[in-house]
Amino acid sequence: MTHHSSLAPTATALERVVAACRELIQTRFHGEPGTGAAAVLLGDGSILTGTSPDFPNPSTTVCHETEPYLAAFRLNQPILASLCLHRTDNDRFLVLSPCGICQERLILHGPDPLVGVPEANDATQVSWVRLGEIMPYYWPSVFD
Ligand SMILES: [Zn+2]
Repeated sequence: MTHHSSLAPTATALERVVAACRELIQTRFHGEPGTGAAAVLLGDGSILTGTSPDFPNPSTTVCHETEPYLAAFRLNQPILASLCLHRTDNDRFLVLSPCGICQERLILHGPDPLVGVPEANDATQVSWVRLGEIMPYYWPSVFD
């Protein structure tokens, strides 16, 4: 496991992550509600986006984050920030914090990647917190 805490993303880079995520939803789904996408910031400053279809067999569903998480491994790049957005039927973009499975995938990059979580009073506003902050009882911590 490699930690990259020295590569703290800038506010501008995080704004680019949000913009890239929204842009993919808009260009790929043309205003269709109930759609979503993810975007991640890599250590080299590039941004990867991803999305996933509703497969015929729902048990095969994967998160929107899956595509960029796997691509980061292919490119041998650390993930510095991760965001998932969901478009509602009234054209709002809700911030979805990473699910438990995505947290387990992202922890490959240590506890320092920033993850987008909804602001308490407005779920369309992104608040960035360290992955470790949303995993205070991460299961392997008893072995440290
Ligand atoms: Zn997930």
